[in-house]
Amino acid sequence: MIIDLRSDTVTKPTPGMLDAMMRAEVGDDVFGEDPTVKQLEEKCAKLLGMDGAVFCPSGTMTNQIGIKVLTQPFEEVICYKGSHIYKYEGGGLAGNSNVSVRLLPGDRGRLSVEEVASNVNNINDAHQPLTSVVALENTVVREAGSFYHLNQIAPVAQLARSKNLKMHLDGARFFNALTETKDPASDYGKYFDTISICLSKGLGAPVGSVLVYKKEYESKARRMRKAFGGGMRQAGFLAAAGIYALDNHINRLKEDHGRAKTLGQVLQNLQWVKSVMPVDTNIVIFEVAAHLTPEKVLAKFNEQNIKAIAFSQTEIRLVTHLDYNDEQLNRTTESFKKISF
Ligand SMILES: *Cc1c(COP(=O)(O)O)cnc(C)c1O
Repeated sequence: MIIDLRSDTVTKPTPGMLDAMMRAEVGDDVFGEDPTVKQLEEKCAKLLGMDGAVFCPSGTMTNQIGIKVLTQPFEEVICYKGSHIYKYEGGGLAGNSNVSVRLLPGDRGRLSVEEVASNVNNINDAHQPLTSVVALENTVVREAGSFYHLNQIAPVAQLARSKNLKMHLDGARFFNALTETKDPASDYGKYFDTISICLSKGLGAPVGSVLVYKKEYESKARRMRKAFGGGMRQAGFLAAAGIYALDNHINRLKEDHGRAKTLGQVLQNLQWVKSVMPVDTNIVIFEVAAHLTPEKVLAKFNEQNIKAIAFSQTEIRLVTHLDYNDEQLNRTTESFKKISF
Protein backbone atom coordinates (compact mmCIF):
# COMPACT_ATOMS: atom_id res chain seq x y z
CA MET A 1 0.00 0.00 0.00
CA ILE A 2 1.26 3.44 -0.95
CA ILE A 3 1.44 6.11 1.72
CA ASP A 4 0.87 9.49 0.11
CA LEU A 5 2.06 12.49 2.11
CA ARG A 6 2.57 14.85 -0.82
CA SER A 7 -0.40 17.02 0.11
CA ASP A 8 -3.69 17.02 2.00
CA THR A 9 -5.37 17.29 -1.41
CA VAL A 10 -4.81 13.59 -2.21
CA THR A 11 -7.79 12.34 -0.19
CA LYS A 12 -10.71 10.45 -1.71
CA PRO A 13 -14.32 11.12 -0.65
CA THR A 14 -15.48 8.98 2.28
CA PRO A 15 -18.58 6.77 1.86
CA GLY A 16 -20.62 9.32 3.84
CA MET A 17 -19.42 12.14 1.61
CA LEU A 18 -20.13 10.16 -1.56
CA ASP A 19 -23.61 9.43 -0.29
CA ALA A 20 -24.23 13.14 0.35
CA MET A 21 -22.98 13.91 -3.18
CA MET A 22 -25.24 11.29 -4.74
CA ARG A 23 -28.29 12.68 -2.98
CA ALA A 24 -27.58 16.36 -3.78
CA GLU A 25 -30.32 18.42 -5.31
CA VAL A 26 -28.80 20.25 -8.26
CA GLY A 27 -29.57 22.83 -10.92
CA ASP A 28 -27.65 25.06 -13.31
CA ASP A 29 -25.61 27.30 -11.05
CA VAL A 30 -24.70 29.70 -13.86
CA PHE A 31 -28.43 30.46 -13.94
CA GLY A 32 -28.30 30.70 -10.11
CA GLU A 33 -30.46 27.60 -9.83
CA ASP A 34 -28.40 25.13 -7.86
CA PRO A 35 -29.88 24.94 -4.35
CA THR A 36 -26.95 22.98 -2.91
CA VAL A 37 -24.38 25.51 -4.14
CA LYS A 38 -26.49 28.29 -2.63
CA GLN A 39 -26.68 26.39 0.63
CA LEU A 40 -22.91 25.97 0.73
CA GLU A 41 -22.32 29.65 -0.06
CA GLU A 42 -24.76 30.81 2.62
CA LYS A 43 -23.29 28.39 5.13
CA CYS A 44 -19.74 29.66 4.51
CA ALA A 45 -20.70 33.32 4.64
CA LYS A 46 -22.50 32.82 7.94
CA LEU A 47 -19.74 30.65 9.38
CA LEU A 48 -17.13 33.34 8.76
CA GLY A 49 -19.31 36.29 9.70
CA MET A 50 -19.37 37.68 6.15
CA ASP A 51 -22.18 38.79 3.82
CA GLY A 52 -21.80 36.57 0.78
CA ALA A 53 -19.79 33.81 -0.87
CA VAL A 54 -19.05 32.27 -4.24
CA PHE A 55 -18.18 28.61 -4.84
CA CYS A 56 -15.20 28.08 -7.16
CA PRO A 57 -13.22 25.16 -8.57
CA SER A 58 -9.94 25.97 -6.78
CA GLY A 59 -8.26 27.97 -4.07
CA THR A 60 -6.09 29.61 -6.66
CA MET A 61 -9.23 30.96 -8.29
CA THR A 62 -10.74 32.21 -5.01
CA ASN A 63 -7.47 33.97 -4.14
CA GLN A 64 -7.19 35.47 -7.60
CA ILE A 65 -10.78 36.71 -7.54
CA GLY A 66 -10.24 38.12 -4.04
CA ILE A 67 -7.24 40.18 -5.11
CA LYS A 68 -8.95 41.17 -8.36
CA VAL A 69 -12.02 42.64 -6.65
CA LEU A 70 -9.93 44.53 -4.10
CA THR A 71 -7.42 46.15 -6.46
CA GLN A 72 -6.99 48.28 -9.56
CA PRO A 73 -4.10 47.81 -12.01
CA PHE A 74 -0.83 49.50 -10.93
CA GLU A 75 -1.58 49.05 -7.24
CA GLU A 76 0.48 47.03 -4.76
CA VAL A 77 -0.34 44.08 -2.52
CA ILE A 78 1.61 43.51 0.70
CA CYS A 79 2.20 39.82 1.46
CA TYR A 80 4.65 37.32 2.90
CA LYS A 81 7.48 36.56 0.46
CA GLY A 82 6.63 32.86 0.32
CA SER A 83 2.89 33.35 0.14
CA HIS A 84 0.84 31.08 -2.08
CA ILE A 85 -0.75 34.00 -3.93
CA TYR A 86 2.70 35.15 -5.01
CA LYS A 87 4.79 32.02 -5.28
CA TYR A 88 2.41 29.25 -6.25
CA GLU A 89 -0.30 30.73 -8.46
CA GLY A 90 1.50 30.90 -11.77
CA GLY A 91 2.07 34.65 -11.72
CA GLY A 92 -1.69 35.20 -11.47
CA LEU A 93 -1.46 38.44 -9.50
CA ALA A 94 0.54 40.06 -12.27
CA GLY A 95 -1.52 38.53 -15.05
CA ASN A 96 -5.01 38.79 -13.62
CA SER A 97 -4.84 41.91 -11.50
CA ASN A 98 -1.81 43.76 -12.96
CA VAL A 99 -0.56 44.56 -9.49
CA SER A 100 2.89 44.60 -7.96
CA VAL A 101 3.75 42.87 -4.72
CA ARG A 102 5.63 44.04 -1.64
CA LEU A 103 7.19 40.88 -0.25
CA LEU A 104 7.87 40.70 3.48
CA PRO A 105 9.72 38.02 5.47
CA GLY A 106 7.31 37.89 8.42
CA ASP A 107 7.78 35.72 11.49
CA ARG A 108 7.47 32.31 9.90
CA GLY A 109 5.26 34.01 7.35
CA ARG A 110 3.16 35.96 9.86
CA LEU A 111 3.22 39.69 9.19
CA SER A 112 3.32 42.02 12.18
CA VAL A 113 1.61 45.38 12.32
CA GLU A 114 5.01 47.13 12.48
CA GLU A 115 6.27 45.29 9.42
CA VAL A 116 3.15 46.14 7.45
CA ALA A 117 3.12 49.77 8.64
CA SER A 118 6.65 50.40 7.42
CA ASN A 119 5.83 49.02 3.98
CA VAL A 120 2.78 51.08 3.10
CA ASN A 121 3.82 53.47 0.34
CA ASN A 122 3.50 57.22 0.58
CA ILE A 123 0.23 58.07 -1.11
CA ASN A 124 1.56 61.52 -2.14
CA ASP A 125 4.64 60.20 -3.93
CA ALA A 126 3.79 59.45 -7.57
CA HIS A 127 6.90 57.26 -7.90
CA GLN A 128 5.46 54.63 -5.63
CA PRO A 129 2.67 52.21 -6.47
CA LEU A 130 -0.45 52.77 -4.44
CA THR A 131 -0.60 50.19 -1.67
CA SER A 132 -4.11 48.82 -1.64
CA VAL A 133 -4.27 45.36 -0.03
CA VAL A 134 -2.68 43.43 2.82
CA ALA A 135 -2.95 39.71 2.06
CA LEU A 136 -2.37 37.25 4.91
CA GLU A 137 -2.19 33.45 4.80
CA ASN A 138 -3.48 31.24 7.62
CA THR A 139 -2.02 28.68 7.99
CA VAL A 140 1.20 29.54 6.16
CA VAL A 141 2.02 26.62 3.90
CA ARG A 142 5.63 27.64 3.15
CA GLU A 143 6.38 27.82 6.89
CA ALA A 144 5.13 24.34 7.82
CA GLY A 145 1.63 25.45 8.67
CA SER A 146 2.42 28.21 11.15
CA PHE A 147 -0.72 30.05 12.20
CA TYR A 148 -1.97 33.43 13.37
CA HIS A 149 -4.11 33.99 16.42
CA LEU A 150 -6.90 36.44 15.74
CA ASN A 151 -5.37 38.87 18.24
CA GLN A 152 -2.30 39.05 15.98
CA ILE A 153 -4.49 39.82 12.98
CA ALA A 154 -6.66 42.46 14.67
CA PRO A 155 -3.93 45.16 14.87
CA VAL A 156 -2.91 44.55 11.23
CA ALA A 157 -6.55 44.95 10.19
CA GLN A 158 -6.87 48.10 12.27
CA LEU A 159 -3.81 49.61 10.62
CA ALA A 160 -5.14 48.60 7.20
CA ARG A 161 -8.44 50.38 7.89
CA SER A 162 -6.66 53.51 9.04
CA LYS A 163 -4.61 53.57 5.80
CA ASN A 164 -7.61 52.75 3.60
CA LEU A 165 -6.17 49.34 2.67
CA LYS A 166 -8.24 46.22 2.07
CA MET A 167 -7.60 42.89 3.77
CA HIS A 168 -7.55 39.50 2.02
CA LEU A 169 -7.05 36.16 3.76
CA ASP A 170 -5.81 33.04 2.01
CA GLY A 171 -7.43 30.56 4.37
CA ALA A 172 -6.70 27.41 2.38
CA ARG A 173 -6.13 25.74 5.76
CA PHE A 174 -8.24 28.14 7.82
CA PHE A 175 -9.79 25.40 9.95
CA ASN A 176 -6.37 23.92 10.72
CA ALA A 177 -5.48 27.29 12.24
CA LEU A 178 -8.72 27.47 14.24
CA THR A 179 -8.18 23.93 15.50
CA GLU A 180 -5.14 25.28 17.36
CA THR A 181 -6.27 28.79 18.28
CA LYS A 182 -9.94 28.04 19.10
CA ASP A 183 -10.73 31.52 17.74
CA PRO A 184 -14.37 31.78 16.63
CA ALA A 185 -14.58 31.53 12.82
CA SER A 186 -17.34 34.13 12.71
CA ASP A 187 -15.03 36.81 14.17
CA TYR A 188 -12.89 36.68 11.03
CA GLY A 189 -15.48 38.59 9.03
CA LYS A 190 -14.75 41.69 11.10
CA TYR A 191 -11.16 41.85 9.93
CA PHE A 192 -11.23 40.92 6.25
CA ASP A 193 -12.87 42.08 3.04
CA THR A 194 -12.38 38.74 1.29
CA ILE A 195 -11.47 35.27 2.63
CA SER A 196 -10.66 32.17 0.61
CA ILE A 197 -11.23 28.77 2.21
CA CYS A 198 -10.42 25.41 0.62
CA LEU A 199 -12.71 22.42 0.95
CA SER A 200 -10.30 20.14 -0.89
CA LYS A 201 -7.37 20.33 1.54
CA GLY A 202 -7.69 19.07 5.10
CA LEU A 203 -11.46 18.95 4.90
CA GLY A 204 -11.30 16.18 2.33
CA ALA A 205 -13.72 17.30 -0.40
CA PRO A 206 -12.71 16.22 -3.91
CA VAL A 207 -12.94 19.73 -5.41
CA GLY A 208 -13.73 23.23 -4.40
CA SER A 209 -12.98 26.46 -2.60
CA VAL A 210 -15.20 29.28 -1.44
CA LEU A 211 -14.51 33.01 -1.51
CA VAL A 212 -16.46 34.82 1.20
CA TYR A 213 -16.76 38.60 1.09
CA LYS A 214 -18.46 41.77 2.15
CA LYS A 215 -21.60 42.52 0.18
CA GLU A 216 -20.07 45.27 -1.95
CA TYR A 217 -17.97 42.60 -3.71
CA GLU A 218 -20.85 40.26 -4.54
CA SER A 219 -21.46 41.21 -8.16
CA LYS A 220 -17.82 41.78 -9.05
CA ALA A 221 -16.73 38.47 -7.52
CA ARG A 222 -19.40 36.61 -9.51
CA ARG A 223 -18.46 38.44 -12.70
CA MET A 224 -14.80 37.59 -12.17
CA ARG A 225 -15.55 33.93 -11.52
CA LYS A 226 -17.28 33.90 -14.91
CA ALA A 227 -14.43 35.77 -16.58
CA PHE A 228 -11.87 33.36 -15.09
CA GLY A 229 -13.88 30.44 -16.45
CA GLY A 230 -15.06 29.22 -13.06
CA GLY A 231 -18.84 29.27 -13.57
CA MET A 232 -19.99 25.67 -13.05
CA ARG A 233 -23.31 24.07 -13.93
CA GLN A 234 -24.69 21.22 -11.76
CA ALA A 235 -22.01 21.97 -9.20
CA GLY A 236 -24.29 20.97 -6.34
CA PHE A 237 -22.77 17.49 -6.42
CA LEU A 238 -19.47 19.09 -5.46
CA ALA A 239 -21.02 21.62 -3.09
CA ALA A 240 -22.68 18.72 -1.24
CA ALA A 241 -19.22 17.28 -0.60
CA GLY A 242 -18.16 20.67 0.77
CA ILE A 243 -21.16 20.90 3.09
CA TYR A 244 -20.49 17.37 4.30
CA ALA A 245 -16.82 18.26 4.87
CA LEU A 246 -17.69 21.34 6.93
CA ASP A 247 -20.15 19.34 9.03
CA ASN A 248 -18.02 16.27 9.59
CA HIS A 249 -14.33 16.90 9.00
CA ILE A 250 -13.39 19.98 10.99
CA ASN A 251 -13.34 18.27 14.39
CA ARG A 252 -10.95 15.58 13.24
CA LEU A 253 -8.22 17.97 12.01
CA LYS A 254 -6.53 17.70 15.40
CA GLU A 255 -5.74 14.06 14.55
CA ASP A 256 -3.79 15.24 11.50
CA HIS A 257 -1.89 17.71 13.68
CA GLY A 258 -1.00 14.99 16.17
CA ARG A 259 0.32 12.68 13.47
CA ALA A 260 2.33 15.50 11.88
CA LYS A 261 3.92 16.24 15.27
CA THR A 262 4.89 12.59 15.63
CA LEU A 263 6.48 12.59 12.18
CA GLY A 264 8.40 15.75 13.08
CA GLN A 265 9.70 14.23 16.32
CA VAL A 266 10.82 11.03 14.62
CA LEU A 267 12.52 12.89 11.78
CA GLN A 268 14.39 15.14 14.19
CA ASN A 269 16.42 12.18 15.46
CA LEU A 270 17.46 10.70 12.14
CA GLN A 271 20.96 11.08 10.76
CA TRP A 272 19.77 11.97 7.23
CA VAL A 273 17.77 14.94 8.55
CA LYS A 274 19.50 18.24 9.23
CA SER A 275 16.59 20.10 10.84
CA VAL A 276 12.81 20.09 11.10
CA MET A 277 10.72 23.26 11.12
CA PRO A 278 8.43 23.52 14.15
CA VAL A 279 5.31 21.47 13.39
CA ASP A 280 2.32 23.62 14.27
CA THR A 281 -0.51 22.00 12.29
CA ASN A 282 -0.55 19.31 9.58
CA ILE A 283 2.56 20.20 7.58
CA VAL A 284 6.09 18.92 8.20
CA ILE A 285 9.01 20.55 6.40
CA PHE A 286 12.52 19.29 7.00
CA GLU A 287 15.95 19.95 5.63
CA VAL A 288 17.99 16.96 4.48
CA ALA A 289 21.52 16.41 5.76
CA ALA A 290 24.19 18.46 3.97
CA HIS A 291 25.64 15.53 1.99
CA LEU A 292 22.17 14.62 0.59
CA THR A 293 19.55 16.09 -1.71
CA PRO A 294 15.77 15.86 -1.45
CA GLU A 295 15.81 13.68 -4.58
CA LYS A 296 18.10 11.12 -2.95
CA VAL A 297 15.94 10.98 0.15
CA LEU A 298 12.72 10.80 -1.85
CA ALA A 299 14.15 7.87 -3.83
CA LYS A 300 14.58 5.99 -0.53
CA PHE A 301 11.03 6.95 0.46
CA ASN A 302 9.85 5.53 -2.85
CA GLU A 303 11.45 2.18 -2.09
CA GLN A 304 9.30 2.14 1.06
CA ASN A 305 6.19 3.16 -0.93
CA ILE A 306 6.09 6.58 0.73
CA LYS A 307 5.42 9.65 -1.36
CA ALA A 308 6.45 13.18 -0.39
CA ILE A 309 7.62 16.22 -2.32
CA ALA A 310 10.78 18.29 -2.57
CA PHE A 311 9.90 21.75 -1.29
CA SER A 312 13.18 23.48 -2.17
CA GLN A 313 16.72 22.47 -3.09
CA THR A 314 17.26 21.24 0.45
CA GLU A 315 13.80 20.61 1.88
CA ILE A 316 11.11 17.93 1.80
CA ARG A 317 7.46 18.45 2.71
CA LEU A 318 5.03 15.96 4.22
CA VAL A 319 1.35 16.73 4.82
CA THR A 320 -0.99 14.64 6.96
CA HIS A 321 -4.64 14.26 6.01
CA LEU A 322 -7.95 12.43 6.24
CA ASP A 323 -6.68 9.31 4.49
CA TYR A 324 -3.62 8.95 6.71
CA ASN A 325 -4.28 6.90 9.83
CA ASP A 326 -2.30 5.62 12.81
CA GLU A 327 -1.43 2.37 11.11
CA GLN A 328 0.10 4.27 8.20
CA LEU A 329 1.85 6.57 10.65
CA ASN A 330 3.47 3.57 12.33
CA ARG A 331 4.53 2.18 8.99
CA THR A 332 5.98 5.56 8.01
CA THR A 333 8.01 5.98 11.17
CA GLU A 334 9.26 2.37 11.01
CA SER A 335 10.29 2.91 7.39
CA PHE A 336 12.02 6.20 8.19
CA LYS A 337 14.06 4.53 10.92
CA LYS A 338 15.19 1.85 8.45
CA ILE A 339 16.47 4.34 5.90
CA SER A 340 20.21 4.96 5.83
CA PHE A 341 22.68 6.39 3.36
C1 LIG B 1 -3.46 24.76 -1.86
C2 LIG B 1 -3.42 26.19 -1.51
C3 LIG B 1 -4.19 27.14 -2.20
C4 LIG B 1 -5.10 26.81 -3.36
O1 LIG B 1 -4.75 25.77 -4.11
P1 LIG B 1 -5.62 25.08 -5.25
O2 LIG B 1 -4.81 23.89 -5.53
O3 LIG B 1 -5.71 26.05 -6.37
O4 LIG B 1 -6.97 24.77 -4.70
C5 LIG B 1 -4.11 28.45 -1.80
N1 LIG B 1 -3.35 28.81 -0.76
C6 LIG B 1 -2.62 27.94 -0.05
C7 LIG B 1 -1.84 28.41 1.11
C8 LIG B 1 -2.62 26.59 -0.41
O5 LIG B 1 -1.90 25.73 0.29
